[in-house]
Amino acid sequence: MKISQASTDQTTECRVCKSTKNHKGYDVESAPQILGCAQEGRADQFISFGIWRCENCGFISTDADPEDMAYELLHSEALGPTWTRHKETLAKFCADSLPKGKEAQALEVGPSCNPLLYTIAHEGGIKATFIDMMQEAPFTVKDGDQYIEGAFPLELETKYDIIVASHVLEHVLDMQTFLSGAKNLLSENGSIIISVPNFEIWIGRKYWNAITPEHINYPFKSHFETLANQIGMEVTFTYFEEHSLISKFTKNRAQLASESKSEDFLTPWVSAITTSIQKAENDLKESLSEKAADCVAIAGASHIAQYPCLMSEKLAQNVTSVIDNSKIKHGKRLYGTNLTVSSFESLGEYQSPIAILFNSPYREEMKKQINTINPNARIIEV
Ligand SMILES: [Zn+2]
Repeated sequence: MKISQASTDQTTECRVCKSTKNHKGYDVESAPQILGCAQEGRADQFISFGIWRCENCGFISTDADPEDMAYELLHSEALGPTWTRHKETLAKFCADSLPKGKEAQALEVGPSCNPLLYTIAHEGGIKATFIDMMQEAPFTVKDGDQYIEGAFPLELETKYDIIVASHVLEHVLDMQTFLSGAKNLLSENGSIIISVPNFEIWIGRKYWNAITPEHINYPFKSHFETLANQIGMEVTFTYFEEHSLISKFTKNRAQLASESKSEDFLTPWVSAITTSIQKAENDLKESLSEKAADCVAIAGASHIAQYPCLMSEKLAQNVTSVIDNSKIKHGKRLYGTNLTVSSFESLGEYQSPIAILFNSPYREEMKKQINTINPNARIIEV
C-alpha cells in the first residue's frame, strides 16, 4: 500500500462549489477493501483511489467507489464510550428541536444497528420512520413505526418534524440532492440534523483514520454553509466534543455562504501519515534495542492498524498482534494482514509488551486503558 502525489490534476465538478478547476490530489494504491476484520472463506481485496482537494473551496473528497466497499460491514462497529456520548448528545439536541406537547414525526436516514430515534426523550412521543440500505432493520422496529429499505432521498407522504442522519453524509455521493430531498420532506418548522466527523479537527490534527475510502466527503463548516445557501436553507452548528460537527438546517431563511475556505489541510495530513510511519519504525527499533518485548501490539482493528502494517515492512515484521475493544473482533484476522485481534486485557499476560498507538480521536482513551491493564507496557505514540 502506498500514498503518493497524483500525476495529473482532476477536473470533475466539486461536490460542494461545483468548480471544475484543477483539483490537486494524491493516489492511494492497494488499500484494504474492508476496514476491520476478515470474513472466513473470502480472499482479501485491495482497492486504489484518489484523494482530491478543490482548488476553489478547499473541499476534500475521495473518488473511492462506494460500491467497492462492503456497506453492511461499515460502521457496524461504532462502539465504545465516545460513540455512546455522541449518541446521547445528538439525541438531546434532536429532542430540543422537536415541537413541544405533541407527537413528533421523525425520520432517521442510515440508522445501521443503532437507531438514534429510539433514544430521544420527547414528552409527546415519537412516530419513527427509518431508511437504510439493508434489506431488514438490524434492530426491532416498534409497532406503528416503519423501516424502509432504500437509498435516500425517497418520495414519502409524511412531512417530518425532524430528519436526522448520524455519520451518513460523509458516505453520500450527492450531498446537495440528499439535503434538498430532506428539505422537501420537512414540516414547516422542521429541521434536518446532520452529524459528521469534525474533519477540520480530524485532518488538521493528522488523525490516521481521517481520510479513508469509506468516507467520500470531508465537509467543513464552510462547506455546509455553501450547501445550505444552494438549497435555500439556514444552517447553524454545534459540536460534540472535538469528535463531530452537528449541523441543523431549517427553512428560516436563505443565508449567504461564508467566504470559501481554501486553506490546504490535505498536504500536511499526507505528509504526517508518512512521517508517523517512519517515527513508528524508529521508535520501535529504539525501544526494542533498549529492552526486548514479548508482545508488540498495534491498537485498533481497523485502518489505524491495517494501513501502517501494509505500508511498512518493518512494522509488519515486528508487530505480533492487534488489540481492540470490540469483542466480536477478538480471534478474527485483521483484513489484509496475518494478524489476529486480541483484547486490550490480553496485554496483562505479558511481562514487557509494547503497544503502538497511531493518532486518532480514541488515542487518549486507549492510552489510559493500557496503563491500567499493564503498567509495564511501553507505549509508542505516533
Ligand atoms: Zn469546491
